[in-house]
Amino acid sequence: MAKIQAIRGMNDILPDQTATWQYLEDKVRQVLDSYGYDQIRMPVVEQTELFRRSIGEVTDIVEKEMYTFADRNGDSLTLRPEGTAGCVRAAEEHGLLFNQTRRLWYTGPMFRHERPQKGRYRQFHQVGVECFGMDGPDIDAELLIMTARLWRSLGLAEHTRLEINSIGTPGSRQSFRDALVTYLSDYRDDLDEDSKRRLDTNPLRILDSKNPETQQILDQAPKLDDFLDEESKAHFESLRALLDAAGIEYIVNPRLVRGLDYYGKTVFEWITDSLGAQGTVCAGGRYDGLVEQLGGKSTPAVGFAMGLERLVLLLETLELVPDSVSGNPDIYVTAMGETAVKAAIALSEKLRDDLPGRAVMTHCGGGSFKSQMKKADRSGASVAVILGENEVNSGTVTLKPLRSSAPQQEVEMAEAAPLLTQWLDAQ
Ligand code: ATP
Ligand code: MG
Repeated sequence: MAKIQAIRGMNDILPDQTATWQYLEDKVRQVLDSYGYDQIRMPVVEQTELFRRSIGEVTDIVEKEMYTFADRNGDSLTLRPEGTAGCVRAAEEHGLLFNQTRRLWYTGPMFRHERPQKGRYRQFHQVGVECFGMDGPDIDAELLIMTARLWRSLGLAEHTRLEINSIGTPGSRQSFRDALVTYLSDYRDDLDEDSKRRLDTNPLRILDSKNPETQQILDQAPKLDDFLDEESKAHFESLRALLDAAGIEYIVNPRLVRGLDYYGKTVFEWITDSLGAQGTVCAGGRYDGLVEQLGGKSTPAVGFAMGLERLVLLLETLELVPDSVSGNPDIYVTAMGETAVKAAIALSEKLRDDLPGRAVMTHCGGGSFKSQMKKADRSGASVAVILGENEVNSGTVTLKPLRSSAPQQEVEMAEAAPLLTQWLDAQ
């Protein structure tokens, strides 16, 4: 019978990759903690209606990427394609937004039925950050300054660039949209297929087209900038001044629009050139209308999401993961014979007490001295602890460096921990 395999575009993250994931997740969390952000955890399934109403009917996500199914009672449910809608739903439902400001973050899997390729999967993971109750550009700036700090802590600062834009209020976007449609209608036949379709449904997304001919047509098109309302302009100017003052470099990209309907005013993307086509590692913006749109009191909000698969790929491609995050044990304890096994288990426990932060792997499953030493070596440990018959009889233990030519040493049982500490600290 054919073996059952994972679903296309949904990846297993295997043991030799998880060290990198944990390294990234730890760094992200450290940075978020240092800015006082609180974690929130939402379910991965929501009412389909939540995404329809927030992301927008005519977006790619809602039109063709959602995993939607009927619950047993007939309710239409959807695996979350992103986290903002669920975060707003949860925060509103539990009264977290009433007369207060909030800085929240979450992480977990998202689901979109896209064509799988490098950096694009059907189950992928995001860290999302959402800030509520703050309408000024200062919080927009904080998000970007915080992300820049994360890139520095990961060694990615030189490999990412920030693009920002303002897409104004719904009113100014509507006027621009009308002008854009009027202009582009004259070129309908010259547009790429996606853009042709979007002309009637979601014309702003045409600005995003990767098609060179479409981009050429856009060169003479009306500019969003000319339609921006005064308030959005002032907000954007202040944001730029704050970023300049903080030494954050950016490019103003007047064609930057996001694929989700709820954004307004500030939008931004962090992009890398080291991953090919899937170069956006973090994207977000302001969505002042969403809370009200979902039934809450009008609440300004701004946030972003970063794609963890793309960041892991980037760290691997650029070889930026330090060796110390290998996930290998530090010490491998071997034992020959029944009495030795008892002593090995006791010694391993003691080493875990005395060497906090070090990983001690105890050999299980018996076998010859030779085969145990082979396993010790393969484990990646720095030192093997050997408990043979001789050692058990004389109350000693042999410590053998595995990654250097330093000689092995037989010591009293009680001296094992201090000596191992010394060896490992000296590495
Ligand atoms: P893209 O233009 O790459 O399709 P998007 O605009 O659809 O991205 P967002 O919805 O803003 O992306 O999601 C934020 C981030 O999540 C993206 O910048 C990317 O890093 C990541 N991401 C989005 N979709 C996927 C996917 N299918 N696989 C892996 N990562 C993804
Ligand atoms: Mg997309």
